[in-house]
Amino acid sequence: MKLWPRRRPAPAPERPRANPIQTAVLEHDLLGISPEPGSPAALTIALRQVGTCFEHDPVDTGTMADARPAGQCARCGRLMIQDDEGCWQVALQP
Ligand SMILES: [Zn+2]
Repeated sequence: MKLWPRRRPAPAPERPRANPIQTAVLEHDLLGISPEPGSPAALTIALRQVGTCFEHDPVDTGTMADARPAGQCARCGRLMIQDDEGCWQVALQP
């Protein structure tokens, strides 16, 4: 006979999942892997050539060796850098 009820282990908290579209776009940009034709990621990459990005969505792609945090916009693919105040700005192309 059990005097105390057995405690059930608490379920693990749900971790936020990475955006699969951003992942596919970054795979295309960094590794050269083409997304599946007709997928949202392929549409995103195709729309870059149209040329508008209403609001940049920077993704940190830098390494610890970089002097400044570097990134890339997940929507338009432009290179971005983070200034001293933590705001992302489009990097000027040479
Ligand atoms: Zn952008």
